[in-house]
Amino acid sequence: MEVPDDHPRKASLEVRHLLTDGFKAGLVAEAGLIAHGRGEAFDYLLGERTHPFADRACRAAAALLVLAKNPVFSVNGNVAALCPKEVVALSEAADAEIEVNLFYRTREREEAIAKKLTDSGAKNVYGIGASTRLLGLSSPRALIDKALKNADVVIVPLEDGDRTEALRKAGKKVIAIDLNPLSRTAQTADVTIVDNVVRCMPLMVRHAKALHGKTDEADKIIRSYDNKKTLIEAETTIRKGARPA
Ligand code: ATP
Repeated sequence: MEVPDDHPRKASLEVRHLLTDGFKAGLVAEAGLIAHGRGEAFDYLLGERTHPFADRACRAAAALLVLAKNPVFSVNGNVAALCPKEVVALSEAADAEIEVNLFYRTREREEAIAKKLTDSGAKNVYGIGASTRLLGLSSPRALIDKALKNADVVIVPLEDGDRTEALRKAGKKVIAIDLNPLSRTAQTADVTIVDNVVRCMPLMVRHAKALHGKTDEADKIIRSYDNKKTLIEAETTIRKGARPA
């Protein structure tokens, strides 16, 4: 459905439509629509714009990716519906593998998401019929494929707190993208980008390209980055209530 140009909530409604279309196409789970609603509420309070604390976190995330040996982008249905091209662009800019990793895992949804990503240019997508188990989680959301198993740095947009903790316990560095700075995911990750995934992905791609191969600079960025400060600034911004740009 076309949103009229003069609609004051055009951008937000268009993103919503990507989700409902993704639901109809079998990418997005019912609960994924509800999760998006929670994200929208936080985004509203953030003024629906990228704040300096989110840009700093994007740069730190890009630095972690530059220093990683086996970075992996963990993709769920919402992310595949919202920004499949940016997932591919970031995986290319950061030499990262892509793995489908679902809370509500069915073979049909895995395959629909993999197809969406390959149609958007991904050369290889892991996670279809995954059979390795991540310790500390109950089935089927514990299932991971060999990309995530071997990963040292994992990007988890819109992730669930238990799995973020399990990934950390498995020794991986976690980059979260989550509009709620209070979620367990946001609080547990090494780098938390408190921003809408549709806004921060192009930004991360730019940072990843700019830092490509610059390991000394990336190391410096990581040493001076403080994720607690990011979370406090994000929460303070939300509590004060930000104005739209
Ligand atoms: P946790 O288990 O980490 O405490 P939760 O149970 O609150 O998280 P989930 O339903 O597992 O949340 O995941 C949805 C999360 O994703 C929410 O924190 C929501 O704010 C966030 N979210 C939803 N849509 C977006 C989006 N477009 N961009 C960034 N974050 C989003």
